[in-house]
Amino acid sequence: MQLEQRDSYPEKLLNAKPNELHQILPQPTLFHLSGKISKPLFISVLQHGNEPTGFLALQALLKKYHSLGLPRSLSFFLGNTLAAGRGHRHLENQPDFNRIWPGTELPASPESQIAAEIVAIMEQKSPFASIDIHNNTGLNPHYACINKLENRFIYLASLFSRLIVHFTRPKGVQSDAFAKFCPAVTLECGKPGQKYGVEHALDFVDTCLHLSELKDQPISSKNIDLFHTVARVKVKENIDFSFHKQASLMLNNDLEWMNFTEIPAGTKLGKVEQQNTLPLTAKNEQGLDVSDNFFSINNFELQIKRQTMPSMLTLNEQIIRQDCLCYLMERISL
Ligand SMILES: [Zn+2]
Repeated sequence: MQLEQRDSYPEKLLNAKPNELHQILPQPTLFHLSGKISKPLFISVLQHGNEPTGFLALQALLKKYHSLGLPRSLSFFLGNTLAAGRGHRHLENQPDFNRIWPGTELPASPESQIAAEIVAIMEQKSPFASIDIHNNTGLNPHYACINKLENRFIYLASLFSRLIVHFTRPKGVQSDAFAKFCPAVTLECGKPGQKYGVEHALDFVDTCLHLSELKDQPISSKNIDLFHTVARVKVKENIDFSFHKQASLMLNNDLEWMNFTEIPAGTKLGKVEQQNTLPLTAKNEQGLDVSDNFFSINNFELQIKRQTMPSMLTLNEQIIRQDCLCYLMERISL
């Protein structure tokens, strides 16, 4: 597997479906298109093969400027096209593409090699900003994530949503690698297949192409809702869980309505068969187990122990296994 670089894209790209991309571009390809302002905007899409919104927005952007010429140079990378071919987050034999970037804790792989190469090439080009576009499976509002609490990052994120999440874990994410040399955001554009998600992402990237600078001024807390991730919650590997049938952990099937809602202590998440062992592990950003700070079992019911705000809760059992059950967050003020 070798990274290819191109300064134009094949016409076919403009009308291709996400599941056809690996046929059009069998090699991982980094595109550099030149525009009026030379400092490029960087966009990555499809890092997760079942999250097509970013690619559809990019496609619409390329169509829009096909004959007009771009207002600013644009570099882009079409993440995991093989997984997109099958509509999966990643294939069984692949790492999660948004965990392989410099700073990763995963073992070196051909994929992490490519990611490191892209970062090295883009750092040389001193990008204006970096945007990585995702979907999620639960009911979540649109929001932007940043890995640094700096004015330009917050300003960039606020152009997408007043809801901003700061996190430093998991490691190896694209936005964190780019944050070392330019303002970087990850966009979460709701569930796949929603037209509004594509329009919102397109509006945002189009705005970024036209900006001459990113303000390095403090943003008033009145204009944003800023949260910090305090824990990532996984179901323990040896625990079987279900939303529908008898299992060691039976999760309530209305969980995703709690996303981005501050939920009080005592909120019930489901039922357990074992009274004495937590079926979940919550790890904080330092990787420490903080499960007992957040969860308890009372009378075979799994409960939240203190007020918190979950995000990314999903009913998709495969995603819960491959990624996590949810993140827990706390509000921060600047
Ligand atoms: Zn994703």
